[in-house]
Amino acid sequence: DAKFPNYEKRSRSTPDDDGGERVRVTVRLRPPSKAEQQRDDERPFIFLDTERNTVVLRRTGSFDAFTEFQFDGVLPSICQQVDVYNVAARPVVLDVLEGYNGTIMAYGQTGAGKTYTLSDKLACGGTSVEGIIPRSAAEIFARAEQDNENEYHVSMSYIQIYMEQIQDLLRPESSNMQIREGENGVYVSGVEEVAVKSAEDVMKLLLLGDRNRAFSFTKLNAHSSRSHAIVILTVERKAKCIPEPGSEVSDRPHSACSAGFLEGERVLVGKLFLVDLAGSERLKKSGSEGIRASEAMSVNLSLTCLGKCIGARADPNSTHVPFRDSKLTRLLQESLGGNAKTSLIINIAPCNDYIQESLSSLLFGSRAMKVATRAIINVEEEFRVLTKNLQDTLEMQDERLQT
Ligand code: ADP
Ligand code: MG
Repeated sequence: DAKFPNYEKRSRSTPDDDGGERVRVTVRLRPPSKAEQQRDDERPFIFLDTERNTVVLRRTGSFDAFTEFQFDGVLPSICQQVDVYNVAARPVVLDVLEGYNGTIMAYGQTGAGKTYTLSDKLACGGTSVEGIIPRSAAEIFARAEQDNENEYHVSMSYIQIYMEQIQDLLRPESSNMQIREGENGVYVSGVEEVAVKSAEDVMKLLLLGDRNRAFSFTKLNAHSSRSHAIVILTVERKAKCIPEPGSEVSDRPHSACSAGFLEGERVLVGKLFLVDLAGSERLKKSGSEGIRASEAMSVNLSLTCLGKCIGARADPNSTHVPFRDSKLTRLLQESLGGNAKTSLIINIAPCNDYIQESLSSLLFGSRAMKVATRAIINVEEEFRVLTKNLQDTLEMQDERLQT
């Protein structure tokens, strides 16, 4: 993009000295809201240098203090959703299509633009522009369409972690689901994996999950910004079976050939985790926000633990990374130094009131810059049989709403 010449160049994953890879960190500054625009009495305090990929914070006191941070990309508020996708998401999605695991997460205080960046649900209402999740899905399906040599299966799961409990947002009656470790890494046991065929299918499930999420928080009289929402897209790729002339096609149930594939052939499996993290703001345990102490503690626990894991991974002298101390880090443990390509987006708000929160988000991001990961291609021998299709899930949901 001519407007942001540095971004494309910087955004491809490049190996570091050990042949490993770093977490890529991009900062996105959201544009001011109408109300924020009207308060023009303040001097600007956040400066983005897109040439050098730096953010400078000015803090005023008895004298001005400046802190400079360097990242892989910095996106000023005029940046469009497509720019953010190209810089912070596309390289990861392309790797997922090659059978790597990938993680894209948005970090920042409530109101900084995490959900806008990842989903922008309003896109369904037609008033704003799609974020990373629908764009990633569109890219995956466009590739599947163009690729004449391979066949693709894509499935989607959608969960949230709230108060250290995992809930399946596509099966809202579920609660306290367990994380297990299998041959292909960490997974949520029993989670719904719905086959999807288009970016529209993904948006439908996203909206469905969001409705369930909002509903669960209304019931609790709590706010969804206290939970982590995680979309998991699993992409399976397999060479197409070209039957020899005159050969019989196997009709064994679930055999690869019955679906048009050769049996026993390699399947590449890439998993894409898209994580809308809980708001990173410091929560007051009591007071106007009315947060229960236990809730504040558990939000802090998982984000603090994420920070600790990032810190431990970034420190060459550290011997222990406390992945197991929270559900979030357990699930993301491969993204934080294992088998995954990882992109972290730090969302910040352009408002003087939030300078402390912005500073702590930028510090979080700069620590994450030092985390090396090591991604390998996942290969599976057989296609998994997908249990649910989209239609079943939507119908089930309708039945649930009617009763
Ligand atoms: P978060 O998920 O971090 O709490 P949101 O994504 O909900 O924050 O954003 C807060 C508000 O700011 C929303 O009304 C959203 O539409 C708006 N917003 C955020 N980022 C942008 C952007 N880049 N351009 C326009 N509006 C934005
Ligand atoms: Mg949000």
